[in-house]
Formats: sequence, C-alpha cells, structure tokens
Amino acid sequence: MKKFYLLALFVSATQILFAQNEIEYTLSFENAAHHEAFISMTIPKVPAGAFLLRMSRSSPGRYATHEFGKNVYDIHAYNQDGAEIDIHQIEGDVYEIPKHQEKIKVTYILYGNLVDGTYAAIDTRHAHLNIPASFMWAPTMQQTPIKVKFILPDSWKVATQLKPENGFYKAPNLQYFMDSPIELSNYRTSAWEVTNPDGLKQSLGIVFHGENSDLAYADFESKVKEIVKEEQAVYGELPKYDHGQYRFLIDVLSANNGDGMEHRNSTIITNSGENLDQSEDDVLSTVAHEYFHSWNVERIRPKTIEPFNFEKANMSDGLWFAEGFTQYYGNLALERAGIKTMKEFITTQGAYLNSVLNSPGANKYSPIFMSQRAVFVDAGVAIDQNNNSNIFSSYYIYGDITALALDLTLRHQFGLSLDDYMRAVWKAHGKTEIAYHIEDLEKILGEVTRSADFAKDFFKRYIYDAEKADYEKLFENAGFIFQRAKANEAWMGDVRLKNEDGKVVISSAAIKGTPLYIAGLDAGDAITQLNDTKITSAKDISEFLKSQKPGDIVKVSYEHYGAISTANLKLNNNPTINVISFEDGGKEITPLIEKFRKDWLSSKAKD
Ligand SMILES: [Zn+2]
Repeated sequence: MKKFYLLALFVSATQILFAQNEIEYTLSFENAAHHEAFISMTIPKVPAGAFLLRMSRSSPGRYATHEFGKNVYDIHAYNQDGAEIDIHQIEGDVYEIPKHQEKIKVTYILYGNLVDGTYAAIDTRHAHLNIPASFMWAPTMQQTPIKVKFILPDSWKVATQLKPENGFYKAPNLQYFMDSPIELSNYRTSAWEVTNPDGLKQSLGIVFHGENSDLAYADFESKVKEIVKEEQAVYGELPKYDHGQYRFLIDVLSANNGDGMEHRNSTIITNSGENLDQSEDDVLSTVAHEYFHSWNVERIRPKTIEPFNFEKANMSDGLWFAEGFTQYYGNLALERAGIKTMKEFITTQGAYLNSVLNSPGANKYSPIFMSQRAVFVDAGVAIDQNNNSNIFSSYYIYGDITALALDLTLRHQFGLSLDDYMRAVWKAHGKTEIAYHIEDLEKILGEVTRSADFAKDFFKRYIYDAEKADYEKLFENAGFIFQRAKANEAWMGDVRLKNEDGKVVISSAAIKGTPLYIAGLDAGDAITQLNDTKITSAKDISEFLKSQKPGDIVKVSYEHYGAISTANLKLNNNPTINVISFEDGGKEITPLIEKFRKDWLSSKAKD
C-alpha cells in the first residue's frame, strides 16, 4: 500500500487548510439487540451532476467477492437545508443521487451478525466492524479525508488503527479507511514498547474482548511477546507502523467464527469459546500467522492486489507466497518461541504434506494456479457443487510445504536459510514498499544463493509447475522419517460417509485416482454390499476393509440414482503420509543432525 501511505503523508500536511472537506460518518447502536447500526454520512463538497455511492464487494485480505450491499437498507438522502432528495438503487450495491446541493447527508441502516475478519457484527456485547462490510463510499471521492464519530453505550470504548483526534477517528483517504477495522466494546487492553535496531520506538498492544482471568491474560500476553520477538528475528526489525502503533484486536466470544485478518497497523482475530484459557492455542496460532503478515503482504506486497479493488474479486498469482510462506512461519515461530514442541511442528508439516501429496489437484496444478483459484474458494459462497476436491489444494498449505522445501534445500545445499531469503525480500520489496511480481521473488532467490540457475530451476519446477520436492530426502538431513505408515492397510479412498434412512451414503466427491473413483462411485451413491457383507453403517465398511489386503478386488453393490449397480473395486495401499523423528523411529541422531535442527528450529530471538 505504498502509494496510499505517501498520499496519506501529503494529505495530513494539507489537512488543516481543507479541514472542512472531510466525509463524516456518525454511528449509533440503539437497536443493537437486533443487530442494527444507524449510520449517517455527511459529504461537504459533492461534485456537480449525478452522484454515486456504493457498498464494497470485496475486502482487503479476502480474495473472493462478498456482496456487502445486501445488508444495508432504509437509505435516505437530504440536502443541506434538510429537505429529503431522491436516491435510487441502480445496481445491487450502487445508489445514485441525480440532483443535490453541494453538501448532502445520507442515512442508512446496517445489519450485521457475524463476528469475523470480513463482515460486521452488532449486538448487545459489542460492534465489530470491518469497514468494507459497513460503510458506503463515493467512488469519485476516494482521496477525500474521512472522520468517524461513535455514539456509544456507556461502557463501550473504541479500538481501531484510525487516528483519534478531537472526538473523531480519522483516515487520510478511502484505502486507509478500508484497512482499519473497528472494535467497539468494553474490552481489556495492554501495550508494550518495542525498539528497532535503528532506535525507533513503537507501541505494540492487545485489545481483548471476551472472558479472561488476570492469570490467563498475563500468560497470553507473554506468549504474544515471544511470537513477536521470533518473527522480528527473521527480518531483523519490525515494520515502521503508520502512527508508531500496532494493535491485535482480539474477540473471543461464543458463536464467533474462527478467523484472522491482517491489516497495515492492526489485525482482527476472532475465535469462538467461553474464555481465553479455552481458546489460547487457537488464538496464538492466529496471532503468529497474522503478525507475520505485517511484513509479508502488508508491506511485501504482491503487485496483483496493489492497489486493492473494492468493486470486484482480487486475483493474485502470489498467494502461495503471501499466505503459504506466512503459514509456514506462523508454525515455525510458535515452535521457535517454545509454545509448540518440535514434535507438534513436524506433525503439522507432515499433515500438510499428506494433504498436498495426496491431492490430485496439487499433483496436476501449480501453486500459482491455486493462488488464482482463491477468487472462488476464499469464503466465496455458491449453492452449486464444484470439483475442488479434485482440482484444488489450499494455497496456505501448498505454499507452506513449498516454503519447507525451500528452507530445507537452502540449509542443506547452500548453508543458508529461508530466513536469509525473507530478509532479502524484505529489504528489496517490504521496507521500500515496492510491490513485487513473481519474477522478482525468483531474482532475489538467485541473488541470495548466488545461483540464478538454482533459482530458475526451483521456480520452474515448484512454483510455475506442479513438481514436488524430494521431501523424504530433505527430511532425512534434519533427522526425520517421512513414511507411509498405513501402507499395508487395504484402502478404497477417503470420502465422507453419512447415514441416511439406514443407508451408508457417500457425501463428498470421490477423489480422482482412488479405488472408489476408478470403480465409478461418487457423492450421492449408497454403498449397500461389499462381497457378501451387507453394509448398514460406516463401521461395517471399516471392519470389512480390515479383512482385506491391498490389491484385492471386491464386488461393491451400490444404489445410484435409485437403481442398484455393481462394480469391481480394486483396493489400494493406504497412501497416508506422516513424519516422525529419528528418535521415535529408533534411529540415531548424529551431531550433524543435531546442528541442523538447532539452526532450523531453535529460538532466533534468544541467539
Ligand atoms: Zn493470512
């Protein structure tokens, strides 16, 4: 968001001169019990001619469209003399005011009842507002400064990265405003000072809304500080936050969605749960991921989503890096900080490998392709079926294991690490805020390794193409065994099964290449018999499979659109992968392996 930031500096310097030219919003919550907020928007210098206002269709950090226009209604417009004027809905989310005076006021009701990083929630406990989900804006006035005023119940306070000034909360322009989520509640808060190597002092802090004991909060806060230190150690410094402040805006309440959303100077973290104690693990995982974004994505920014477009989906070829490498470092920071054990870290990486290496989508398509699919999967809602289980693999997880492969390769082959690479990317594109193209990432890898050929080969195989690294070998250097532990078990393919009127029905798509898929069975089919065994529960199937070997051919009877069919089902080896340590596998740890692990997994903040 470099452009907006520079612009922000410019605007604040001239703000005094044009102080009256600010779009002003006022919010009140008299009907919070029914999830409504009343919003008024005063616009002082409306350009002549028909004037358009709109709701957003997308939100920063989300890549699909979300149609926020559905939750605003009762829209009215007034001239400065108070007379009501016409306002027409001309598209789902666009409104037109054909005739008006120079200053106008627009009022509307916002409905919101989902606590997460994307939408809005208004209830008697709080208002939790993501800006694109909540505020109308004028496409022709995106550079006009914005100020917001809140009329709140007595106990509620304001938490946001917007700048407080004379009772208002301010943004220099629309892009900054959109990036500044707001939590209004009776929250708990604390802050601490952090210092960069160049002496820059900044404030980091937590805003926590939800049940918490002093003990639980103190434990949580100390762990957040450890995570921050480990991530800072990767880059060597913290980013320079716009007002010298960064805040974790955390909401732990029953019925919340579990979510995290990164912003330039804050993050929204939501989790369901009765209290902090119960949710600490989940929240810390999200903290580790989202905070890493304050370098990777908020400042090391893919050109494809810069600037962000609020009127359509934002497609990017770089999410395997922006989200996937962040996912890897979120996991690694938790391990390095001692919050997760080495075993937990490795088990997670093994689970990710299992999911990607056994995904027909990831076997065929590249991390770039998966990144571009985000416009359909990133909470994009549709009621028709898709074939994602056969063509898609999450760019978070696919990107994570790509980062893992690169990290282990850099360590083994070059005596370098992924930390060295991330630091180089930070210097070239993060600190400078020059948005990157994929070619830039390849070029920096060539510079760090002093081998453009290595970089070219790595990107060609694993980023532009769908080849997979030799994880078995990579793990061996670090003293881990990559294994197919269930290889002797007969397997028909992993599908979800549900019991429907005494029938066992396949309820998820069959995965390409699995025995069920090859036999022609798919979602909706009910398995009624395997050889002579009648099937009436999922347990009958697992019991039957225990009596079989990989390679056996079984006669399956199944109900398909109401008719009984039969097919031959050739059972396969169970391909499940997991990763265990040499110790657990009864193998010896050499001093070389010990050093490799220490370099990779020990705390970098305490080094
Ligand atoms: Zn993320």
